[in-house]
Amino acid sequence: MNKINIAIDGPASSGKSTVAKILAKNYGYIYTDTGAMYRSVTYLAIQHKISFSDEEGLVDLVERYPISFEQTVAGQKVFVAGQEVTEAIRQNDVTNGVSEVSAWSGVREKLVEVQKEIAKNGGVVMDGRDIGTAVLPNAEVKIFLVASVLERAERRFKENQAAGIATDFETLKKEIEQRDYLDSTREVSPLKQAKDAFLVDTTGLSIAEVVKRIEEIVEHKQALIK
Ligand code: C5P
Repeated sequence: MNKINIAIDGPASSGKSTVAKILAKNYGYIYTDTGAMYRSVTYLAIQHKISFSDEEGLVDLVERYPISFEQTVAGQKVFVAGQEVTEAIRQNDVTNGVSEVSAWSGVREKLVEVQKEIAKNGGVVMDGRDIGTAVLPNAEVKIFLVASVLERAERRFKENQAAGIATDFETLKKEIEQRDYLDSTREVSPLKQAKDAFLVDTTGLSIAEVVKRIEEIVEHKQALIK
C-alpha cells in the first residue's frame, strides 16, 4: 500500500491531535503536531523575553533553537535545543500568546520548511491550521475537523482538569473563540478549509466514530490511487 500524507486542519480543540495520533498509530505513520512548533516558539519568546510583536527576534529564536519530536510509548515528546518542553508549551501563557506569534510570515516560513521536509516521503499525519492549504497542498487526504465551541470548551476544560491546570469555563470558552478569530483572520495562511478537504463535524461524536469516518475516507482514497 502506498504511503500517503494525511492533513488534518481545524479550529482549537476540535480533536485534531487526538484523532491524528490514533490514525498515525493505526497506519504506522509519523504524527506531526505543527501547533506544538508554534507553541515552542512562543515558549522560547517568554523564556528569552522576546516580545510577541518582534518578528525578527522570534525568527532568530527559531534559527537558534531547533525544534524536534521524539516518539515514545508514553506519547510524543517535544524538545527545543535538546530541552524537553512537552508540558511547558501547554501552559496558559503560551496558549494565549501563540496566535500572535504564529501570525508572523517570517516565523511561518521557517516552520513550514521543516514541516514540508518531515512529510516529503509520505507516511505522515500532520495536524494544524494550514496543512491542507499551505504546507501539504498535495496531501492525498485532507480533513477539516470542526465542533461546536461549547463542546470544544468542555473538552479542553476536562483535559485541563486531568492535567491539574486550574481554569474557569467561561474564560476558556472566550479564549478558544479569540484564538479561532485570530487564526482565521490573519493575513498569512489563515485557518481555512481547503477546497478539496472533507469536512467532519465531531460535535456529539465519540473519538472512535471520528476515526472510523476518517479511515473510510482514507481507504476510499487509497483504492483510487492503487
Ligand atoms: O494546534 P494547537 O491548538 O496546539 O495550535 C496552537 C496555535 O498554533 C494555533 O492557535 C495557531 O495560532 C498556531 N498554528 C498555526 N498553524 C499551524 C498549527 C498551529 O498557526 N499549522
